[in-house]
Amino acid sequence: MSKLKSTSIQGSADGPHLLITAGIHGDEFEGIFAIYQLIRQIDASKLHGRLTLLPIANQSAVDQHSRYGEDGKDLARTFPGDPQGSPTEQVAAAVNDLISTADLYIDLHTGGRAMDVYPLSGYGLVKDDAILETQRRMARAIGLPLIWGTSAELDGRSMSAARDAGVAAIYTEYRGPSPCDAIGVKTYVDGCLAVMAEFGMLKQADSIQHPPPVIVEDSRPNSGHMQLCNPSPIKGLFESSVSLGQNVESGDLLGKVIDPLSGKEHQITSKQTGSIIVIRSYPQVDESDALAVILENNENPASPYQLPSC
Ligand SMILES: [Zn+2]
Repeated sequence: MSKLKSTSIQGSADGPHLLITAGIHGDEFEGIFAIYQLIRQIDASKLHGRLTLLPIANQSAVDQHSRYGEDGKDLARTFPGDPQGSPTEQVAAAVNDLISTADLYIDLHTGGRAMDVYPLSGYGLVKDDAILETQRRMARAIGLPLIWGTSAELDGRSMSAARDAGVAAIYTEYRGPSPCDAIGVKTYVDGCLAVMAEFGMLKQADSIQHPPPVIVEDSRPNSGHMQLCNPSPIKGLFESSVSLGQNVESGDLLGKVIDPLSGKEHQITSKQTGSIIVIRSYPQVDESDALAVILENNENPASPYQLPSC
């Protein structure tokens, strides 16, 4: 059975139990450093409720310098896991148990080595109205410039573990490519403290003023599944022509994939109109790897959201 290296801080007064995790993927470091800072910073005598902090959910993936654990599995596709299963399945089962003890849950991610992701907080559009409203409050409080509610039907994820346990949960993304972004770490620390203040776990810190976020809720099946978007037609080298937050129209060039064996270039054009919220940053791609994710405006497909630059 997998043993998680979590830290639990019991406050001096009643309040909710907040769980914050990072390191679900082993190549995403801003959330990991943010949680280590929270472990040093939180004063139990000033805390209402309980805070459980898990900086590295999947140590095996960190050891592999990878999104995947030693068994080749993606922890974020393995929930609810199996305590008798492979290493990643065991970790999933242990994190699943931890999630079920929480009232509120934040899972910190980035795009990792391969992807650059627009800073956002996301949640599943769960059927329970009270939980959904709590998730919206958490997402607003954490202060990232894009809030993205997507299908609650996707399984295997920390968010589906929370959904099944009836726990209000959000995940976050903040850029990705190395080096670890100090502004991203601070943004995550400040954001987690702001969520704690929002739910009465800490006194309101000096509030940081954020511009109003762009809020998108898209309940279409597979919305939020980033790995399905704009797949590479071949194994090769991707050269991007777009940047995060940029608006594109259907038919616009996103980049090209070069076949290193033949030298042939495959142009990658957008099939959607919208804003770029994920772009592949690591050039080497396998066939069907996602190259970009575009946030469509469902209400008015011809008019992309205006995302602030990041
Ligand atoms: Zn991740």
